[in-house]
Amino acid sequence: MALIVQKYGGTSVGSVERIKAVAERVVNTARDGHSVVVVVSAMSGETDKLIALAGQIAARPAEREMDMLLSSGERVTSALTAMAVNALGQKAVSFTGRQAGIITDKVHTKARIEKINGDRITKALKDGYVVVIAGFQGVTEGATDVTTLGRGGSDLSAVAIAAAVKADLCEIYTDVDGVYTTDPNIVPQARKLAKISYEEMLELASLGAKVLQTRSVEFAMKYNVPVVVRSSFNNNSGTLVAEEDKDMENVVVSGIAYDKNQTKITVVDVPDKPGIAARLFNAIASANIVIDMIVQNISSDGKSADISFTVPRTDAKTAKEVAETVAGEMGAGRVDLRDDISKVSVVGVGMRTHSGVAARMFQALAEHNINIFMISTSEIKVSCIIDLKYTELSVRVLHDIFGLAQ
Ligand code: ADP
Ligand code: ASP
Ligand code: MG
Repeated sequence: MALIVQKYGGTSVGSVERIKAVAERVVNTARDGHSVVVVVSAMSGETDKLIALAGQIAARPAEREMDMLLSSGERVTSALTAMAVNALGQKAVSFTGRQAGIITDKVHTKARIEKINGDRITKALKDGYVVVIAGFQGVTEGATDVTTLGRGGSDLSAVAIAAAVKADLCEIYTDVDGVYTTDPNIVPQARKLAKISYEEMLELASLGAKVLQTRSVEFAMKYNVPVVVRSSFNNNSGTLVAEEDKDMENVVVSGIAYDKNQTKITVVDVPDKPGIAARLFNAIASANIVIDMIVQNISSDGKSADISFTVPRTDAKTAKEVAETVAGEMGAGRVDLRDDISKVSVVGVGMRTHSGVAARMFQALAEHNINIFMISTSEIKVSCIIDLKYTELSVRVLHDIFGLAQ
C-alpha cells in the first residue's frame, strides 16, 4: 500500500485513446491497493496552439491573460482523465491547481510554488477517490489570480505535490522509456540509464534535456522525492532519479544535452569601468530574466568591451530592449541579437576527479569544423554555444567520442 503520484505528459494524454490508456494504468495501480494522485499536462501541442492564438491577437499579450489562457489546456485533460477513470468503475475527481491548494508567487508565466495545502487532496484520497490534478498551474495567495509554472511545468506540479502529500514515489510518464545518455530521438544508439543522481539530472535538465523540467529536479532534490521516469506506452522499467551512489563517480561523462532555445545578445563598445556589468545585469534580473552564459572581451586599446550573454529565447525581445535602454544610459554602442545558436553540453559527476573532458570536447568539435562562440564550465559540465545548424551533428559526435553508445 503506497501513495503514488503519476504524472502524464502531453503525448501520454494526446488523444482520447491515450487518455483511456492512462486511465487503465491508473485504475490498475489503484486496484493493486495504492492511493493514486494523477497530474496531467495539456494534450500535446495544445499549449503551443494557445500561445500562437494569443500571438495573433496581440504582439505582447498581458502575462496575466496568458496564464488564464494557458492553464485551460491542463484543465481540459484533468476533467477528461477523471471521466475516463470513472468510466472504468473507479471513483475519481479532478482539481484545478487552485482546488489542489497550490499557492505560487505572482510572477505570471513562470511562477514559483510557495506552498501547497494538500488537505483537500488527502481528504479525497481517504474517501477512496483517485485525484486528478491539472498540472502546470497554481494560484496566488488569496486565490486572486491563476498562474502557470513555466514550460514543462507539469513535472514541477507532480514533484511538488508528491512532496506535499509525502508520496512514496513520483512517476513521470512520457514518450521515452527513461532518461538516456542523450536525446534518443536524435541519437538512436543512446543508452537508457537505470539510475541518475539528482545533481546530474539537474545539470542535464538545465542544459536542455527536456525529459524533466529543471525546477522539478531542484524540488525533488531539496525534498528528497524519489522520481522514476518511464514510458506510458509500455511497461519497461524506467530511470530512477535519486541521491548519488559511490559507483556513479566512476563514469566520467554520463550524458550529452542540447538546448535550442537560447539567444545570444551582445552589447558592443561598453565603457570599461567598474559597475557597468552590475548595472546591465541588475536591469535584466529586474525583468525576471535568467541569464545563462556571459562573456566579456576587452578591446585591444583597453578602453571598451563587448559583453555577450545568453537568455532563453522567449525572453530575448525583452532582454534586448532592457539592454538597449541601459546601453543608451551608459554610452555603449549597439545591441546585437543572434537567434541561430544552440548550446551543447557534456555532463558527468566524474568530471570532478577526471581531467581532459573539455579538451576532448573542443577537439572533437574542431575536427568537424564546428566553431565555438562561447564556453562555460562547472565542476560537472562543459557547455559550448555553437551554430544552431550543427546541433544534432555535435550531439552525435560527442556521444560517440565519450563512448556513451550501447
Ligand atoms: P512530456 O510531454 O511527457 O513532458 P517532453 O517532450 O517534455 O515529454 O520530454 C520528453 C522528451 O525529452 C523525449 O521525447 C526526448 O526527445 C527528450 N529528451 C531530451 N533529452 C533526453 C534524454 N537525455 N533522455 C530522454 N529523453 C530526452
Ligand atoms: N502544457 C505545458 C507545456 O507545454 C506544461 C507541460 O506540458 O508540462 O509547457
Ligand atoms: Mg515535459
